[in-house]
Amino acid sequence: MKFVFFGAPGAGKGTMASRASTAFGLPHISTGEIFRGAMREGTPLGLQVKAVIESGGLVSDELTIGLVRERLAKDDAAGGWLLDGFPRTIAQAEALASFCPEDHVIDLQVSDAKVIERLSGRRMCKGCGRIFHTRFMPPSKPGICDDCGAALYTREDDREESVRVRLENYRGQTMPLVDYYTARGTLVSVDGEADADAVWADLRAVMEGLIAAEKA
Ligand code: AMP
Repeated sequence: MKFVFFGAPGAGKGTMASRASTAFGLPHISTGEIFRGAMREGTPLGLQVKAVIESGGLVSDELTIGLVRERLAKDDAAGGWLLDGFPRTIAQAEALASFCPEDHVIDLQVSDAKVIERLSGRRMCKGCGRIFHTRFMPPSKPGICDDCGAALYTREDDREESVRVRLENYRGQTMPLVDYYTARGTLVSVDGEADADAVWADLRAVMEGLIAAEKA
């Protein structure tokens, strides 16, 4: 089954898509993580997108759509996928609908206050990309990833000025997708305000229901 994880920066898309990937055996495809991986490795793609990402801007539709299209054509995506961070514009949503239409869009709903609180404490693993939070999801050893032992860092675009730009982009370019997906009948809203375990319990039940309905 093909799921899009949708929501504001800090809504919990990455954390929830990662748990859902383990629970349902579907590949977790995060455009942000693909870009960050390319930046870490210093590939031509990484060098191309670094400045725009660090300032909180959006990478061009053309580049992002091409990348996702290629990724979804890989064998592991044939049985379904979890897209995290794509689409973020109407052009991207229309492209996805044309080459690999979604079954469901999970809209993780959170308040602005929660977004700021989550982004300001978010820490990410340099090695595997796992997400932590200094207060809500602290690692066992400060500054070290529980999974791979690599160092944790603060994303450049989680700094205050970039967060402001990201929220503006979200409101201007990404929120119109709520109407777009409502009209397609694929939008499912989930309250993302509570702690990760509670949101995951709700989300898991919703996803199990959708998967069971598909099989029935
Ligand atoms: P994320 O990890 O989803 O918050 O993405 C981090 C950054 O990568 C975003 O702030 C954008 O600069 C870029 N990015 C990720 N996905 C997209 C997308 N679908 N379209 C444009 N830029 C994107």
